[in-house]
Amino acid sequence: MIPQAEPGAGYRALRAEIDAAVARVLSSGWYVLGQEGRAFEAEFAAWLGLPHAIGCGNGTDAIALALRGLGVGAGRSVVTVSHTAVATVAAIGMAGATPLLVDIEPVHYTMDPDALRRVLEDPPPGLPPIGAVVVVHLYGQPADLDRIAPLCREHRVALIEDCAQAHGARLHGRRVGTFGDAATFSFYPTKNLGALGDGGAVAVADPQLAERIAALRQYGWHKHYISDEVGVNSRLDELQAAILRVKLTRLDSGNARRRAVAAAYTAAIDGSPLTAPRVRDDAEPVFHLYVARTAQRDAIQMRLRESGIGTGIHYPVPVHLQPAYAGRVATGPGGCPETEAASREILSLPLYPELTDEQVEAVCAALRGL
Ligand SMILES: *Cc1c(COP(=O)(O)O)cnc(C)c1O
Repeated sequence: MIPQAEPGAGYRALRAEIDAAVARVLSSGWYVLGQEGRAFEAEFAAWLGLPHAIGCGNGTDAIALALRGLGVGAGRSVVTVSHTAVATVAAIGMAGATPLLVDIEPVHYTMDPDALRRVLEDPPPGLPPIGAVVVVHLYGQPADLDRIAPLCREHRVALIEDCAQAHGARLHGRRVGTFGDAATFSFYPTKNLGALGDGGAVAVADPQLAERIAALRQYGWHKHYISDEVGVNSRLDELQAAILRVKLTRLDSGNARRRAVAAAYTAAIDGSPLTAPRVRDDAEPVFHLYVARTAQRDAIQMRLRESGIGTGIHYPVPVHLQPAYAGRVATGPGGCPETEAASREILSLPLYPELTDEQVEAVCAALRGL
């Protein structure tokens, strides 16, 4: 069976370097917020092209910390999409804010700028004023920042980029995460930059915002043991930071390999009942996921499984229809019909940099046989 994702392969490919990094941390006697974490933050910020990165416990906390750092909490609504990891919406709630979910554009599966414009110009009644937009670069494809960033500026709302699936993706040659007020990352093991446990980061340009987020992640401390405001505990530990330093050196080559595998799938899909993902003009995606689309999704998923090809569905139930949120979360006018249609037809094929050429060919042969 070729699995849809295989985080163990990322460890095995770099075992000697990762084991050495782990041994170094274990013998150092320092395990939380130390020199590995500081070094990783500096290296990750430099790689991204922003002055500050703040490590934290996971990608969900990263979004909540970014919102709180920007002063967006209780008494504010935050616009995001329903077609995302539920974490995006959970984080808005963790910050104390009210989520407002809008639809996606059907081709790229990212926030529909017209749906955003409608709620900014004419906010749904009964909701607190909109304080921020969390745009999600889903599947490693940049969202339409050309339209979304100016809308946020025009309406004076903060823009947070959820880059949990898009480490290194570019739009007009510029890395996503550098367009808004804050960028958030997850280092969950299957992400393009994955730890061997949980991890996350917020990246920002503004030094004061960086300082506030760094304080909020540790009880609101600016000085040890003195909370200036109420914070949380969401720290990136030294083991994960040391592992991430090793893996960061392979992130760009891993993304290039993902693009090459994606190109092979797109060629193999041609003429099959599957529709390949489309890439936005002048964008360089990083294919966290390769998501094809078909009206015969469930049957094709079963046939691929019989051929030894694992697949996934990201995501099978839109957030606004999940039991925790249905009837409790606001959606934009007209609801989210494109989100609901996509959730019935999308299928994620195996994709990670360590796939061998033989495995890629096996997937392609199965796709050609559909
Ligand atoms: C993975 C993910 C998150 C959450 O990250 P965790 O590290 O699992 O908390 C948030 N948003 C998106 C789009 C994700 O894919």
